[in-house]
Formats: sequence, structure tokens, C-alpha cells
Amino acid sequence: MPVLPNEASRQLYQRGTICLTAQHVSGLTMINEQTPIAFQDPLPKSVDVVVIGAGVIGMSTAWFLTRAGLDVLVCEKGRVAGEQSSRNWGWVRQQGRDPAELPIMMDSMRIWATLAEQTGEDLGFARHGVLYLADTDAELARYEQWLEIARQHQLDTQMLSAAQLDAMIPEGKRQWRGALYTPSDGRAEPFQAVPGLARAAQRSGCRIVENCAVRVIETQAGAVCGVITEHGPVKAQAVVCAAGVWSSLFSRNAGVDFPQLAVRSTVARTVPAPDIYNGNAAASDVAFRRRMDRGYTVALGNYQEHCLSADSFRYLSKFLPSLRRSWRDTRVRLRGGILQRFPPARWQGDERAPFERTRVLNPAPCPWAIAQIRARLARRLPALAKLEFAETWAGMIDVTPDIVPVIDESPSQRGYFVAAGFSGHGFGIGPGAGRVVADLVLGRPPVHDLHRFRLSRFSDGTRIEPGPAL
Ligand SMILES: Cc1cc2nc3c(=O)[nH]c(=O)nc-3n(C[C@H](O)[C@H](O)[C@H](O)COP(=O)(O)OP(=O)(O)OC[C@H]3O[C@@H](n4cnc5c(N)ncnc54)[C@H](O)[C@@H]3O)c2cc1C
Repeated sequence: MPVLPNEASRQLYQRGTICLTAQHVSGLTMINEQTPIAFQDPLPKSVDVVVIGAGVIGMSTAWFLTRAGLDVLVCEKGRVAGEQSSRNWGWVRQQGRDPAELPIMMDSMRIWATLAEQTGEDLGFARHGVLYLADTDAELARYEQWLEIARQHQLDTQMLSAAQLDAMIPEGKRQWRGALYTPSDGRAEPFQAVPGLARAAQRSGCRIVENCAVRVIETQAGAVCGVITEHGPVKAQAVVCAAGVWSSLFSRNAGVDFPQLAVRSTVARTVPAPDIYNGNAAASDVAFRRRMDRGYTVALGNYQEHCLSADSFRYLSKFLPSLRRSWRDTRVRLRGGILQRFPPARWQGDERAPFERTRVLNPAPCPWAIAQIRARLARRLPALAKLEFAETWAGMIDVTPDIVPVIDESPSQRGYFVAAGFSGHGFGIGPGAGRVVADLVLGRPPVHDLHRFRLSRFSDGTRIEPGPAL
């Protein structure tokens, strides 16, 4: 039997729920521990900056730092883009963003638009628009509120009527009352984009080492002076923690408190499909996006699972505001988190760290979610529901209490920068955020107001206010 991404996919294949494509047979499926190592530069003794994690945030940061002339090392415990950055829906959207994120996101759109040319890699970026589909007047009213934010930033966002939608998505005729629409939004292909960026960064001189967990940072007089990896020490004047869902655990061991939790989200992709809509669209029950391979990436609109861990209790009070808003869409599970539920509180550089035990966080997709995706598609878009799922998977999304990331230097450990907690929307903003982080590391005056993204907001008494609920 061909290599399938995980046990759940294997079972679905055996039951005939998913079929095989040429990609499966050639092994070009989800990135996991079986994916051959592609980046194995020798570990240097000393660099300017160590970036922890080769997701979209780490690689974008490394790209800009390398192009600014710095000597950069990216350490990845598993595979480049093995976790969230290849498992996401591939939406590159400005629509619905927190007002503080929007200027960075608009920059990110401009970067995406030139990145293929600059990197010489096909990242799958295209602008085909984003639709938020409304079933109720209350949803329409919420979307209309966001229009004001769009206007302030001269974004091309608009409201569409039911009749305009019918013309756009004939297969979903009379399904929705209207939509929020941003034609300039787009998509990129998660399987391709970050590995492509990594190859380009490497060609520019950035060193990248897979299967190389950073265990601890080293400090001297309150400032970073290097890291200890599982393969040995590396001296550096700055360290960027872009470790996705592992950032809280890593930072805590370094004496930096960063409230962060993980939620599991399940996704499927269809075999090549007839043209339903060429962009990205989400309703409260189902979301779909046209892919470069002519299939659709499909998922539930608002559904996530949180698997209980020690951090659930540690950070409960900070997460209450966002939980109050999303509890209807969140299921709490006792098992299945894959992240270690009670990881060691402390470890040293000469000890095996938790990151070495899970090279690629590859949670099983939720069978209930897969069945629901199909059932909801059958109601909304029957032509899509008839198609086989070529692949199903899940990803662990890292969330902060206010659903916006931390982009900041630690006040207690100079030279230790945290860029994590992108809360389910870090793929699109990745290149823009990478430029912002690079500027911080370089000590350049920030181009954007980063106040909302400071680490201290979780400890200085600031009221935690999640961004727009869109
Ligand atoms: C199902 C799903 C759908 C999503 N849809 C979208 C979308 O449509 N649009 C959008 O904008 N965003 C989306 N997101 C969110 C987006 O994917 C993430 O916000 C983004 O990829 C985060 O990137 P990152 O680089 O911070 O983290 P990651 O991609 O998770 O990368 C972190 C990396 O750090 C490595 N690492 C961790 N600890 C260590 C260590 N100690 N040493 C070395 N390496 C380490 C990990 O192995 C990992 O590869 C989605 C996410 C999921 C899961």
C-alpha cells in the first residue's frame, strides 16, 4: 500500500472514503516525518541570528534577514513547513483582519505579489478574491461593520447581494443572503510556498538544518549569546522564536511567559473538480477554496477542537474572553492532543528536549469533521459533495488569548524575539510579518504600530480584547 500521511488517512483509504491520486503514489502528500530531509546545511559554530522553526514566519524572517546581509541559521526540529504552514487552507486574506494587523497584511499582499519573481519559485499565489457568505441578517450586519475598517485603509472590500452571489456561484444558488467580498484577496499553495521560500533563502546564503531541535537559549548578563541545539551549540547575538505551537513551551523554559494554546482543525482536499468558484469562500458551516491542482480545499466553517493539557488550566483565565465568543464552535477533548499534555517544566541544554520527541506534529483528522464536511457540502454545493476526497489531514493551530500574534523582543532576555501565536491566520500575513520581525532584529524603526503585538500585554493588566469576530 502506498505511503499515506497518517493512520486515520490509511483507515479512510481502506474504507474507500478517500481515493489515491498521483500525488499519493509519488509520495508528494502532506509533509510528515517520512518526508525525506531536504535541508541539511552543516551546523555553523557562530551566526548573527538563529531562527527557531521553518514555518512561514521563521522562513519569511530568515529571508529578509539574509537579504539584509546577515548570517542566518534556521533550525527546524522536523521538516520545513511540516506543521501549520503546509496544513492550512491557503487563504491569503486582508478581509476580516484585526485593524492592527491589516497594514502588515496589506504589505504582505504586496510582498506575495513579487515573491515568485524574487525567489524564482512558484508559490501558487493568485488573487481571486475572498467571500464571507452570510445566512442571516445578523451576519450581514457584522460584516458591514468591518466595511468601515476596509474603507479607512482604501481596501476594495464590498457587500454583495444574494443576486450577485447567485451569478458568482451558480451551484450555490439561493443559499446565502449576501456576502462580504474583497476581490484583491487571494491564495497561495501551502504545500509549495514555504519550501519554495526556503530553497530561495538557502540560495541567498541562509543555512537551514532539518531534524535539528533547538533545546535552549544561552544568555550572558541578561542578553542572548546563542542556542544549544540537539547537534551542538551555536553562538548568536539574536534568536527568533518562530516555533508555532511550541513557542510557549520553549519560551517558558527560557524564563519568558507566553500564553498560548492549541486547537485541532481538520481539512480535506477533493480530486480535480468542476468550476464552482475560483476564489476562497466561507460560510458559518463550510469553507472551500479552489486549488492549483483543480481540486478544492474544503473544511468546516467554524469548528475547532481543544485537547486538554496543563496549559489549558494555566492560561484559562486569559482565554476566557475569546472562549466566551467561540465556545459554541469549540469542542474540548480529553485525548488526541499529540502535544505532550504534561511536558517537563524545565530542561537543560544537555538533556533531550520535548521537541525531539515529536518531529512533525501530525494529528489525525477528526472523522466526525470529515463526515460533516461531506454532509454540509451535499446541502450547499452538491457538485463538490459527489467528489472523492484525495486526502484528509489535520493541523494544530496556535492561538493567543486575543487572537493576534506576539511580535516582540522579550523585555527580560535581550535579543530573544517572539514571533508566534498567529491564531489561525498566519499564512497570509507571513511574508509581511517576516519583514516586521527582521526590522525588529535589525534595530530598524518599525514601519507599523506594533503596540497590540507586545508580549507584556498579557501581564501588565491590559484588558484582553479579541479582534473582529469574522
Ligand atoms: C487547518 C489550518 C488552516 C489554516 N488556514 C489558514 C489560512 O487559510 N490562512 C492563513 O493565513 N492562515 C491559516 N492557518 C494558520 C497558519 O497556517 C499559521 O498561522 C501559520 O502557518 C503559522 O506559521 P508559523 O511559522 O508561526 O508556525 P508553524 O508553521 O507551525 O512552524 C513552526 C515550526 O517550528 C518548528 N519548531 C518548534 N519548536 C522547535 C524547536 N525547539 N527547534 C526547532 N524547530 C522547532 C516546528 O517543527 C514547526 O515546523 C491555518 C492553520 C491550520 C492548522
